[in-house]
Amino acid sequence: MPFWAGPLLRILTLIVVALAVGLFLDDATGWALLAAGLAAGYAYHLIQLGRLTRWLDRTRWENAVAVPESSGEWGDAFAALYRLRREELAGRERLSDSLERLSQAAEALPDGIVLLDAMKRIEWCNSVATRHLGIDAVQDRGMPITHLVREPVFTAYVQDEGKVDPVVLKSTSPPVRTLSLSMIPFAESGRLLISRDITAIELADTMRRDFVANVSHELRTPLTVIVGFLEGLAAGDVVASPNLARHHALMYEQALRMERLVRDLLALSALDDTQPPANEDVVDIPALLATLVEEGTALSGGKHKLTLEIAAGNFYGSREELRSAFSNLISNAVRYSPEGGDIALRWVLRDGLPVFEVADNGIGIATDHIPRLTERFYRVDKGRSSATGGTGLGLAIAKHVLIRHQGKLEIESTPGKGSTFRAVFPKARLS
Ligand code: ADP
Repeated sequence: MPFWAGPLLRILTLIVVALAVGLFLDDATGWALLAAGLAAGYAYHLIQLGRLTRWLDRTRWENAVAVPESSGEWGDAFAALYRLRREELAGRERLSDSLERLSQAAEALPDGIVLLDAMKRIEWCNSVATRHLGIDAVQDRGMPITHLVREPVFTAYVQDEGKVDPVVLKSTSPPVRTLSLSMIPFAESGRLLISRDITAIELADTMRRDFVANVSHELRTPLTVIVGFLEGLAAGDVVASPNLARHHALMYEQALRMERLVRDLLALSALDDTQPPANEDVVDIPALLATLVEEGTALSGGKHKLTLEIAAGNFYGSREELRSAFSNLISNAVRYSPEGGDIALRWVLRDGLPVFEVADNGIGIATDHIPRLTERFYRVDKGRSSATGGTGLGLAIAKHVLIRHQGKLEIESTPGKGSTFRAVFPKARLS
């Protein structure tokens, strides 16, 4: 039965009764009865409407489900409201359960998590983040994150949206720890800041580096002594028998190799341990390259043709570090090119950026190896590397130096045709 059938039936009954009264008694009584009936109906609906309004008001503040008792159409309407209300409360409970589980999961994470809005203001953080970054989860809500973490590198990181590498911060106040902070975009304009405690990793890394540096340092003196004696022996012609001469030559060669290894390991640990070079020292690159060409020619023994093109000027950086990086690239070109090879050195501007390029037409490198060449001790052909005095550390040193000058190493190579190693620096380093 449709909801209007009941009220319609009641009004029709009232009209019929009023008509009957009008017919059998008098008109006025009939009209009066109709008016009284309509007024009573109106009053009844007003009362129900009042109960509904009061209930709606109450439910805004209370979680109560109970609706006013009623019958007829109002009873149906209240029953429908009751069902709606119950579903809404159940939905709300499910939502709050999920939220609770989510925040428990965020609390259980070993990393600090801070939710930031589009203006990088704090919306929420877990308790690890409060410990890592000294944030008060309640009081600091709505504060820009850069007001609380005030390290300049972090501010720069937050402003430079495109930066992908996490920023590393060391806290100076106890407990001393090293944090790695990374920011990830989420939702439409929000940001997720993740703080990770890398103190233990850093410590292990420092211990490893210190160990290598100490061992290399300790080996340097005995090696110098051994090499000195072996040289003396050769010079003094003490090595008389052919066997002894052969052993002596082997000892001397291996001692020199160890000396080169120790030298490169020490160079790498110096790069690891010191601050990147400031932008203040001007390096006369054309002069530096002229010296390096001489050294390269000496290493080649005249077996290769080295050419030098200079089309860029001086440079801000560390002369010693650049010398070491460039000389490694040149010595590789000599060592990995057969006799008669051409080696072109260029110090030029490419798209406005200063670039040092070494192009050879030597043995080349298969594509698979290229991404791994700058790993420490990675060599395509171990035999050739050792035979030509390589340590497997040259490109690692070169890459390290370039990173310290905000540059990058690009490698292009075709097996059998040759290789081009390109050190690309930022414009700001040009003097
Ligand atoms: P190494 O002391 O062995 O030369 P590097 O780190 O300088 O160590 O180079 C790593 C490897 O990259 C080398 O062993 C060699 O296989 C390859 N390589 C480097 N430069 C060249 C080049 N110009 N041509 C061919 N191969 C090269």
